[in-house]
Amino acid sequence: MVRRPITYIIAFLLGIGMIKQMSEYNLIGKYKLNPPTDIRKFIELNQDKWDEEIENKFSIVLPDTKIGFTSIDGSTSMLYFHDKDSIAVDTTASYNLLSYSEVGPLTRAFLHKETPKGHYIHERTHSIYNSIFKNLGSDIDSSFIKEEMWGIRQYMLIEGIAEYGRIMKGEYNFFPLEMCKPKSIDDLYANGGRKIYSYSPHVVRKILDRLGMEKGIEEILTNPVITENEILNPEIYADRILN
Ligand SMILES: [Zn+2]
Repeated sequence: MVRRPITYIIAFLLGIGMIKQMSEYNLIGKYKLNPPTDIRKFIELNQDKWDEEIENKFSIVLPDTKIGFTSIDGSTSMLYFHDKDSIAVDTTASYNLLSYSEVGPLTRAFLHKETPKGHYIHERTHSIYNSIFKNLGSDIDSSFIKEEMWGIRQYMLIEGIAEYGRIMKGEYNFFPLEMCKPKSIDDLYANGGRKIYSYSPHVVRKILDRLGMEKGIEEILTNPVITENEILNPEIYADRILN
């Protein structure tokens, strides 16, 4: 077979393209090139597109919320914060820039599970919750009013809603789902439990699936918070809210 120069040129260009893509996305490890700036830029570039995807997925109009960026120096900690008027997205170095939902199974195996897109969707879902909370005013159940009184039961619903947003958009849950299910009340309050069990989309899933994101959050906020027994049996909680 005779190979013409054009074949070599095409092969060369394809090779360059692949290397460029590999280095941009760092397919086999963590993103290393100036991570905070690059991740921030990456999120800013994609923000409008991701917002549109979230709006389409949940048939909602997103609240106009300020996005802040934070980075925890020298740490790969996965702790993020947000408040009622703005959401903060961490730009820690441990991300991979690929989105979990947009790659094939082979690439997923090499992917850091927490991605900027997944994290963005989680935080953006908090902004939906925050705006509904504000609009409900005095209709909110007293168990949700005093933030200083919140415990695992409130956080489980609030973070569960944010994680629901993330998994419904096809991104990876913060903790594997089986880890988010306490086996007993003691287990619920055991060391570190609060953090892990807060990221529990399964406790709100049936409600949000049935009522949709906005109406579902409204019902969660205007009814008494989930009980310990209902945490162990989320179907009882869903039935109470849905009936
Ligand atoms: Zn959160």
